[in-house]
Amino acid sequence: MLTEDYPGNFEEFIDRFQSEDDCFRYIAQLRWPDGFVCPRCQGAKAWTTSRRLYHCSACGHETSITAGTVFQGTRKPLRLWFHVMWWVMSQKNGASAKNLKDVMGFKSYETTWAWLHKLRRIMIRSGRDRLHGTIEVDETYIGGEEEGAKGRRTEKKALAAVAVEVEEGKLGRVRFRCIPDASAESLIPFVQDNVEPGSAVKTDGWQGYTGLGKKGYQHTAHKIAGSGHKASELLPHVHLVIVLVKRWLMGTHQGAVRHNHLQYYLDEYAFRFNRRLSTHRGKLFYRLMQQAVTTEATPLHAILAPAKANETQDIVPA
Ligand SMILES: [Zn+2]
Repeated sequence: MLTEDYPGNFEEFIDRFQSEDDCFRYIAQLRWPDGFVCPRCQGAKAWTTSRRLYHCSACGHETSITAGTVFQGTRKPLRLWFHVMWWVMSQKNGASAKNLKDVMGFKSYETTWAWLHKLRRIMIRSGRDRLHGTIEVDETYIGGEEEGAKGRRTEKKALAAVAVEVEEGKLGRVRFRCIPDASAESLIPFVQDNVEPGSAVKTDGWQGYTGLGKKGYQHTAHKIAGSGHKASELLPHVHLVIVLVKRWLMGTHQGAVRHNHLQYYLDEYAFRFNRRLSTHRGKLFYRLMQQAVTTEATPLHAILAPAKANETQDIVPA
């Protein structure tokens, strides 16, 4: 079994993936690291048909290598997908649909946008390790009225909860979740889903966090009012992450992020942020590919589902 087998740089990448067969072989290797397993009879022997299906020697069941992956049903060559994934992962600040369209020469902005969204939706994995140690948690509004444009933009701001690990004064991993409001019903499950019980959780004095102690966390509430300090001084790490993610939304994406897609952009940010110390570019590609072969593609109609009336505006981070 090969572990963590990925091209280390672009030269190795183009060497490695010269044909569709090379790409199919790579997907097979990631899907079945210990060899083929028939999904119907668990048989381990198969031959490949001319249509690149795995034909089980025992029961005759034919398995598509791309079924149940992000590549399922694609009409485009896998080599193009691989190139796009490599390129998106090698951009330090991520890629916008406009960048990608220009670089890859795609004809339609919509197609390019849909590809990026399919990739964003595999960047989060359920059952991930929760954060642990010391964690700062806060919530922030993203978007809203533009300065000096009162009366023109009246959209609701989007609210996102943010959790950040702090290790010896340095930023560790991050988690984000779009939440409907700042109630305990929204904030406590966010912490429970993303932070190991027993961890030291620091928040401001907001009542939505009061129940954390009862849920098994060592909760410290820093009351900002009357402390003589700003929130950014009492919870500096989570505030820094909030500044960085807003800068990214305004920079790479020019603020052109809709409320109903914001979670997926935050997922992309977290995916990169949590792997920012990886020295190999290829490693990000590999992680994305691992998730691509184990996550079914989100159908286009679900990605394009119309936004609700109050969610159709572009976001302008506050
Ligand atoms: Zn079988």
